[in-house]
Amino acid sequence: MKLVCPICKNPLDLNVQLVDCQNCGAPVRSYARLSQHSAILFNRGLLAARRGDMTKARDCFAAVVNWCPNDIEARNALAMACFELKDWQLAHFNWEKIQQTLPADDLSARGLAILQDRRKSAENAKLHRNRTRKHKTRKKRRKKK
Ligand SMILES: [Zn+2]
Repeated sequence: MKLVCPICKNPLDLNVQLVDCQNCGAPVRSYARLSQHSAILFNRGLLAARRGDMTKARDCFAAVVNWCPNDIEARNALAMACFELKDWQLAHFNWEKIQQTLPADDLSARGLAILQDRRKSAENAKLHRNRTRKHKTRKKRRKKK
């Protein structure tokens, strides 16, 4: 993970014991620590997802997003975990949120497209079920006569 100074956007060297930004002198120690913690949480989420524990993965990614609402990578991961858990509403919310800030993001655009396809085929299946049901009732009525 690359970290930049929140003040001057200078890349921060995380390999040295960081106290102040090497460029502008802003105190960045706590900021770096916080960012590293969200990275640890993110990695924990990835590990959980790889193990198939999507509930834990979702919770880890949700915590990262709660801390860093503009972390697109974490929000995409959160949306995908929600998708895996069939929480379509939360998946949609997070992908929509990404598209609002970064319309060029491919992953969220594809996610939204998949959700839309899924909704359409679910509606079609429902429509088909209703049609067959009506058809059957009509047949039954005919038999009664
Ligand atoms: Zn700086």
